[in-house]
Amino acid sequence: MDFIDEIYEINTVSKMKIYIDTIDIEFDLLTTIDEKKKYIKELKETCFNVLAYIMMDMDLTLANGNIVTNEYNIIKNKNAFQCFLANYLLNIETIDDFNVIIGFLKEKLSNFKTKNKTSRITEEEIELCFKLIINKFPEFESILNKIGINILLFNASHKLYNSECTHSVDFNSFQIESYYLKNNDEYKNKGVNPIYVFLHEVGHIVCWLRTRQKDTFPESFIKEAIMYSGLTSDNKDAYEVYADSFSIAVLHDSKFSQYNPFQKYYNAHDNELLEKYFRKEIKEINNKLPVNNIKTF
Ligand SMILES: [Zn+2]
Repeated sequence: MDFIDEIYEINTVSKMKIYIDTIDIEFDLLTTIDEKKKYIKELKETCFNVLAYIMMDMDLTLANGNIVTNEYNIIKNKNAFQCFLANYLLNIETIDDFNVIIGFLKEKLSNFKTKNKTSRITEEEIELCFKLIINKFPEFESILNKIGINILLFNASHKLYNSECTHSVDFNSFQIESYYLKNNDEYKNKGVNPIYVFLHEVGHIVCWLRTRQKDTFPESFIKEAIMYSGLTSDNKDAYEVYADSFSIAVLHDSKFSQYNPFQKYYNAHDNELLEKYFRKEIKEINNKLPVNNIKTF
């Protein structure tokens, strides 16, 4: 069982992979259901302690360059790997879950790359993103105080994503996984910028806070953001369009609008419409979120 604790030692992608492979083998070797249940319980206790260790020991967080604020937490480098694993492993409830989540993590880790570093969002840019959002939609500040957002800055890129966002079961806490951009040419030639990518992920959080469901989007988006009149509720990627649209609305009219590769396709009327739409969305989300929402990590 001692190996479980080695999550504290993880500081590289290869150590993450070894950790997952080893707990998978250890679990496989257990012969009774009771032993397997006990293993899951101890694994989750360790994961919970790891998160507490990262989030609450201020000396440690300062030493590792992490940033813990009322509004969001930035977790970097080796702590990002540990937090990432702990968050996913904490979702294990049953023996079946164990196999599903370990399988998911193995697949995900197989796409991590540690060479060819490109560009990744910086702490200053994250602060700027939230300033831009609050500048345009002031109620977003209150939302940030009611929900939890962990931003993981990985010392790695991912073959499939520039970043990814996940949510807790109750959609009150969120995790943004930020990687180095997967393709340097994309960054240099096609204008994909970490700021736009980050705001896209925050757009997913807005969508989830509004719908409290995964992979869906509010009907009002089709009715009120009329430039997308071609979209229907069957459109599988409409929630991605929603996230992009949030990013467009935040960056529009700012000196950073050039960072959004889609901005050029919108005229003044479209942009106004999107801003008006999200102004209403953010107000509604804030009004519906309870004030005494307990922040979790
Ligand atoms: Zn997306």
